[in-house]
This record gives sequence, C-alpha cells and structure tokens, in this order.
Amino acid sequence: MSDRDPLLSALDTVPDPVTGKGLVTSGRASAARLEGSRADAIVDVAGLAAGDRAALESAARAALLAVPGVTEARVLLTADRPARRIVAIASGKGGVGKSTVAANVAVALARMGRKVGLVDADIYGPSQPRLFDAHDRPDAKDKIMFPVPTRWGVPILSMGQLIEPGKAIAWRGPMAAGALSQLVDAHWGDTELLILDLPPGTGDVQLTMIQKHRPVGAIIVSTPQDLALIDATRAIDLFFKADIPVIGLVENMAGYACPHCGEISDPFGQGGAEAEAQALGLPFLGRIPLARGIRSASDAGTPPAAGDDADAAPFRAIAERLDAWLNPSPSPVF
Ligand code: ADP
Repeated sequence: MSDRDPLLSALDTVPDPVTGKGLVTSGRASAARLEGSRADAIVDVAGLAAGDRAALESAARAALLAVPGVTEARVLLTADRPARRIVAIASGKGGVGKSTVAANVAVALARMGRKVGLVDADIYGPSQPRLFDAHDRPDAKDKIMFPVPTRWGVPILSMGQLIEPGKAIAWRGPMAAGALSQLVDAHWGDTELLILDLPPGTGDVQLTMIQKHRPVGAIIVSTPQDLALIDATRAIDLFFKADIPVIGLVENMAGYACPHCGEISDPFGQGGAEAEAQALGLPFLGRIPLARGIRSASDAGTPPAAGDDADAAPFRAIAERLDAWLNPSPSPVF
C-alpha cells in the first residue's frame, strides 16, 4: 500500500460543506503525500464562503493529524475554478426559437453523456422553466445558488425561477447583467459545459454577459425571414467584436413538417441561413423544421430532443456538431 492511501481515506472522512460527501469522493481533495512525518494535502475550496474555507482547512488538518505517524499537517487551499466552458446561444430578435434550440441541444448533449447545465439569461422572456417543467425556486447557501435538477439530466438556473410568474423584469444594463451573473457563478459542481441562453438582440446586457463570462463560442439561431431583416447578422457582429468565435448558424422554422406525412414544405423559403453562413465563412450547424410536435412537446415541458422520433433528430445532429467543435478528435499523426 502506498503512503497516500491512509491520508486520502482520512480526508474522505471530512464532509464537503456543499455535497455532504467526503472531500475525496466529492472531488475537493485529490492530492496528499507524506514527507517523513509531515502530511501535505491540497483542497479545492472554489465556490465556498470564507468561513467554510477556514472550517474546512482545520477539519482537513485534524483528519490528517489523526493518521498514525503524522505529527505535522499542511493543507493548501486552492480556488481554481473547474475547467468549465460556456457556449452562448444568441439571436438577433425574439421568437426565432433560440430558447428551444438551447434547451434541446443541452438535452441531446446530456444524452451523449456530457455533463451539461443551462443558464437561462433571457430576462425578457425566461422560458426554460417551462421547457424543462422545472419551476422550483433554487436553493442557495451563502447567497450562491444551486442549479435546479431536471428529469433530462440538465440542471438549470433561470431568472424565471426567481421571479413570480407573469411578472416582467424591469432591470436594465448593469443591474440585469449583475443578477444574471449569479446564475453563471452558481454551484455548478462537476458540470463541464454551460449552455447560456442569452436574451434576444444585441444590447448592453448581452455585451456585458459575453465580456464577463467569455463563452468559448456562440451559436446564432435565426429563421429564414430573420436573415432577410439582418437581425442575425447584427448578433454575429456582436461576437466578432468581442472576439468570441461563432461556432455556427442554426436555421430554425425552416420549412413546415406535415404532422401527417412528415413532408416538409417551405412557406417562408429555406436555405437562407446556409447561404448566409457560407457568405460569411461560418459553419452551418443545421436546419430545424417548423413542426407541430416540437411546439407541443416544448409547451408540455418535455424537450423533443429527449425522444427518439423525427422531432429529436435535428437537435441531435446540431449537438453532435457542437460536441465535435468543443472536443475535436486528435488529428492522425501520420
Ligand atoms: P426565442 O427563445 O427565440 O424567443 P422560443 O424558443 O421561445 O423563441 O420559441 C418561440 C415559440 O416557437 C415557442 O412557442 C416554441 O415552442 C415555438 N418553436 C420554436 N421552434 C419551433 C419549431 N422548430 N417548430 C415549432 N415550434 C417552434
């Protein structure tokens, strides 16, 4: 048996103040070693209030000192944020299906085994609680919120969970961005990817959010008509100016899927986003038809991407492209 095991076992007897599980089990303590009779350990205290940090340090030290042969113990606290990446979902205007795309791409990624959470920053119309049927008010400790778990493996935080239903939020600019930041800086635990459903448009709130939280990339959602009105182009511009890569464009409500035969007709025309993406040199991530099933499942709080029918397919394809962008496979060496 190596020297480490008794130290880690001792650290694991100390409960994590957030999860209640042992420090090793919950991932806070991962390194410990014995130098003669001195035990050294590193404990990650990210997200903890100062009081909790101090209590944890002394509890960890006491646990180490209880190990036979240890006469001195040093506990190094680190507050390194876990390597969590944010992907923003944006649109030039409201009603194009941005929230629907954000929710369903998140669900599809969770089904692929990714640890994904969702922040609904759409202050003007926070729709994620309805899309996920998750209306509970989030718990908080020391003013830091806990995301609300959902049935589809995607924890969410939304302004809609914090305000009374039907009440509009009158905040503007910095105040809104400040409130929204608390949703991002929450106890996201081992969540590796946060999908950030931005408010529609290209105002101060959007700019502040992307400058502050630096998404690794953005997906722009538009309808075929929206592109003609250049709203989507403005959204693309916002990310270019902030130096955030646009992962690609999604065309939503592109053609109408007949609920009887599945045939897709094009009352609004389609292909606009793909042509626009090409003209701008941006990837095109996929096209989602206007489908009655997508709307009814969304309204019922069961994201269509959680199913296995035709309504799930376009969201899954987009999620796979996003995943490939985020986790490129290493190029062959020869
Ligand atoms: P946004 O976030 O851009 O304001 P939403 O995602 O809230 O838009 O969508 C607006 C409405 O359109 C919702 O009722 C939603 O269910 C519906 N919707 C979105 N995409 C589709 C689609 N592809 N087919 C049918 N209905 C859709």
